[in-house]
This record gives sequence, structure tokens and C-alpha cells, in this order.
Amino acid sequence: MMDKQLGSSADDIYLSIIIPVYNEQASITECSRRLTDTIQNIGVQYELIFVDDGSQDRSLSILTELQKQDDHVKVVSFARNHGHQLAVTAGLDYASGDAIVIIDADLQDPPELIPAMLDKYREGYDVVYGKRISREGDSAFKKATAWGFYRLLNKLTSCYIPPDTGDFRLVSRKAADAVRGMREHNRFLRGIFAWIGFRQTAVEFERDKRFAGETKYPLGKMLKLAGDGVFSFSLKPLGWIALSGVGAAAAGIVWLLGLLILALAGRAGGDFGFLLSLVCAIFIECTGWILAALGVVGMYVGRIYQEVQGRPLYLVASSSGFDSGAYKKS
Ligand code: UDP
Ligand code: MG
Repeated sequence: MMDKQLGSSADDIYLSIIIPVYNEQASITECSRRLTDTIQNIGVQYELIFVDDGSQDRSLSILTELQKQDDHVKVVSFARNHGHQLAVTAGLDYASGDAIVIIDADLQDPPELIPAMLDKYREGYDVVYGKRISREGDSAFKKATAWGFYRLLNKLTSCYIPPDTGDFRLVSRKAADAVRGMREHNRFLRGIFAWIGFRQTAVEFERDKRFAGETKYPLGKMLKLAGDGVFSFSLKPLGWIALSGVGAAAAGIVWLLGLLILALAGRAGGDFGFLLSLVCAIFIECTGWILAALGVVGMYVGRIYQEVQGRPLYLVASSSGFDSGAYKKS
């Protein structure tokens, strides 16, 4: 009964779909077609917001063409490549929907899952994230690192970041506005969405292969995202450094005392001096460890520096399609 009531008012829902695009010329048309088919079947009002993240291929011209043919299509084009997380952020800034879906352009996230997500939204959930039960298209390396990363991350953070989820999700206006209020530069959106709380649930799906082309997330970008996940959501690495420093110093002192006792007992041998300097070098100086620890501190300091600079998160070179719709940017 309750569901029915909510369901009937759901016809008023205005749905925004955010699709970040970086060199996806071979996928865009099919992506737009499958999204359009799915959403028109549901029968809600909608907009498709493609955020072109500084593509160097024909993505932008294909999007511009699509936009001319279809009023539902809106295009935001970045002045350069800012990265997936910022492309999604821009999408959230431009979206005017009551509910907002974030979905990749390469069709690894099936648009056909959106009706199930919308059902959960109608039940009252603010964040409905897609949970991958299989990852057909991903390499063994990617699967293994993702598995380890999420488990490590949840040991480190105080808010629960659901494992095996990406950015594919439907969020309510309330959740989107909460996330829009968080303007940190090094963004790990799935962590930010976990941080805001509200009512959250999952819908499961099998992650397909890429429709076309290669991943736009090479190892470097993946490591950067993993770093943002850890350093934006946990101060524990700093605590570990402090603890390990105390531990190393304590071990050094114990070793030194042992050597001194041996020396006093006249049993230190000729290489006493050598051992002494070794102890100092390994446990007290320990250059490699110090540099590594400094590096971890640097991760936090660098992020503070970027926040203090206060640069905009992204720069938009052009946008189209927003004048006709209900677009409002606050
Ligand atoms: N993407 C982006 N900017 C980037 C890298 C990727 O907007 O710098 C987009 C990309 O076009 C795709 C989504 O982000 O729509 C996810 O990227 P990809 O499929 O390459 O990542 P993977 O699925 O391999 O992790
Ligand atoms: Mg992909």
C-alpha cells in the first residue's frame, strides 16, 4: 500500500543521469541509446548530462551532435582532463533532478539496473549503489587489488565504505546536495557518499566488459584514487608512523644496552664499534624508513596545500542544452 502510494507520486520524478566521458568516441552513441531506451520505458522526465573530461578524440563532436538531435541531452565540456571524480562532481553541480544516477560511459555499468535503483529510491533510500557480484571485464590484477583495497580501507576508516562498489549509483537530491557541499580537491566520491550517511542500500549487478576501447584508468590514476581514499578518510597512517618510530627507537636502545653490557663484561669482541654503528644506522637513523614516513606525512601536507590554494575544482570550456530544461545552478 505504502509502496503504491509512493510509486504513484513517482511519476513526478525528474531523473538526471551523469555520464563522465574521456575519449569514449566508440561508446557514446550506444550508451545514449541504451540509457534513453531504459528511461523512456520507466516513463519519467529526465536529462542525460554528459561531462566531457577534456577528451582528445571525437567524443565532444559526437556529444554536440547528439545534443542537437535530442533535448534531453546536455553537455558540459571541461577545459582539460580533470579526472573522473571531478567530471562526476561537475555533473552533480549541473544536475537538477530529484534523483541522480552516476554511470560510466563504457556500459560496464548496465543502464538496465536503473529501474531497480529507482524502486529503492521510491522506498525512501537516499543512496542506492550498484554492488558488483562479478567483474567479467576486469583483469585478475584489478580484481585482486580492488578486493584488497576495500578491505584495507575499511580497517582504516570510521565510516563504512561498501566493498565491491564503484561510482555507479542513484542518489537523492538530499544526498547530492550534501555531497555538493563538500568541495575537497582530492575526491574519493564513494567514500564521500558513505560519509554523508542517510539511508543507503545496494542493488547487485554483474559488471560487463567495456563496450569499446581501453580503460581510461591506468595504474597511476588507480593509485591516485586509492591514495585519496586512504588519506581523505583516515589519519591512522600518521599514528602508525609515530608508533613504528617509537618501536624502532626502543629496539635500538635495547640493542645498545645489550652491547654495552657485553662490552662491560669484556665479551664484545673486536667488531664492537662496527656493531654499534650498525645499530645506530639501522634503528636510530634508518634513512629509508624516515623518508617513507616523511612521504606519508607529505601526502597529508600536499593535500592541505592544495586546499589552501583554493583553486576551482574544474574549469568548464563550454556547456550546451541547459537553457531549455529545468537547469538551475546554485
Ligand atoms: N573517465 C573520465 N576521466 C578520466 C578517466 C575516465 O571521465 O580521466 C570516465 C570514462 O570515460 C568512463 C568512466 O570515467 O566513463 C570510468 O572510466 P573507465 O571505464 O576507463 O574505468 P574502469 O572501468 O576501467 O575502472
Ligand atoms: Mg570502465
